[in-house]
Amino acid sequence: MTQHYEIPSFVKNRPRTRIVCTIGPATSTATMVERLVRQGMSVARLNLSHGSRADHEGFVSVVRQVSEKLGVSIGILADLPGPKYRVGVMDGPDIQLQRGADFTLFAKVHKGTQEGINVWPIGLHSDVKPGAKILLDEGKVELRVVEVAGTEIRCKVVLGGDVKDNKAVTAPGHTSTLDYFTDETLAALEFALEAKVDFIGLSYIRDTGDLERVRERVKAAKRSCLLVAKIEIKQAVDNLNSILDASDAVMVARGDLGVELPIEMVPGVQKRIIRRANERGKPVITATQMLESMIEASTPTRAEATDVHNAVRDGTDAIMLSGETSIGRNPIRVVQYMARIAKRAEKFLDYADLAGRRQGRTTRHEYGVGEAIAYSAVVAGHDLNAKVILAFTESGATAARVAAFRPRIPVISVSPDPAVGRRMSLRWGVVPLVLSGFNTVQDMFYIGSELALETGYARKTELAIAVVGMPIGVGGSTNLLRVITLPEPKTDVRLDRNH
Ligand code: PEP
Repeated sequence: MTQHYEIPSFVKNRPRTRIVCTIGPATSTATMVERLVRQGMSVARLNLSHGSRADHEGFVSVVRQVSEKLGVSIGILADLPGPKYRVGVMDGPDIQLQRGADFTLFAKVHKGTQEGINVWPIGLHSDVKPGAKILLDEGKVELRVVEVAGTEIRCKVVLGGDVKDNKAVTAPGHTSTLDYFTDETLAALEFALEAKVDFIGLSYIRDTGDLERVRERVKAAKRSCLLVAKIEIKQAVDNLNSILDASDAVMVARGDLGVELPIEMVPGVQKRIIRRANERGKPVITATQMLESMIEASTPTRAEATDVHNAVRDGTDAIMLSGETSIGRNPIRVVQYMARIAKRAEKFLDYADLAGRRQGRTTRHEYGVGEAIAYSAVVAGHDLNAKVILAFTESGATAARVAAFRPRIPVISVSPDPAVGRRMSLRWGVVPLVLSGFNTVQDMFYIGSELALETGYARKTELAIAVVGMPIGVGGSTNLLRVITLPEPKTDVRLDRNH
């Protein structure tokens, strides 16, 4: 039976930089998720710090349904809450705090009033001393610790504002001493594993120890999801290299980073994280407030457009929307803007510099035959004016390796495993395709040729590059590069010594 290959035009027209959208009340229906995908979303994100388990189950099922309907791989990223302190339940509406007022943070159950609030989980009193700064809701309210009396933290209000329940409580420079697995984090991890999400976002990780503990649980549950280390506290920035080496991807979580570090440090830290992730060939997501004003407004500010553009040119693999798509008034329009801005920025990418980041680090980071073949595929594709790179990939490793060198031409990852297709959804410039039926290398060349022609990526007489790992079926062994002049004949390649 002849197979037909199709890649929807909205997938072909996406920016090569991946767009991650946080799903929430504004985008929880199948119709909305489909519209997000058609406008350029590759990965749907659930923030497990908000909403109920039933909400999250609903989001996962809707995303899977849309993916099935459109025949497009959509990755799901679920962010764990991590060891974060939060404001407890309020006794009534939000509290307005005035500068100079006394305000106490209680570890015991205490319904929030003008006198003070409950902060949970218990532990903040062990992390701070008199004089420490405490921020509520990412700095909207600032407190100064006057006295720590047992588990009570007595403070003065330095910057007044509204206090709302469940908002983050942070003490910049005083890393939380909580166990990574708070009850909330454990419950969220259990959900993420049961729901078989593709990526798990690790909030507030401090070092590789936190990451390894999550990885052990993922392994014990026999899941293959990838771990995204969210770099959002100073300790994680200090441990950046080891965290990058141990994780599968990272996120520049600028919301918390801008609270934990002096705000003027954030742009430089963003560039450093992106560069170091690029050197290691690990995907990096730039997150938070990218088009924040569009939560309300119908167009972004000039500064926001510039921010998205600059993140793309910095070398980010993915750009993320949070409140803009979860609770915003214009979730579809915001993705349209993001895609437009990213596509334009990609015209200015310094491809040689980006490939050089990965290529120039051979002695320091994992770099072997697979990387050499992947890099050669990118160079050959460019030098020969090939139209597409076809990465046949059992585990996703071959396509990931190619993408890490930022080819100018499209990369199609071809894998029989739908989970690999979804994991590829975060990789810069990769079009994931789930396809089986290739049992020999010649099958791959032939199917690749048909695929390149039928999907419109290339025409007859043009070139496609195939990258393969041998033996077939063994993940991660990228070792074969072939330049195909289209079309590839459907015959076995045999030596014919009579000619
Ligand atoms: C951030 O702090 O930038 C972030 C992405 O984390 P969250 O949205 O979970 O606060």
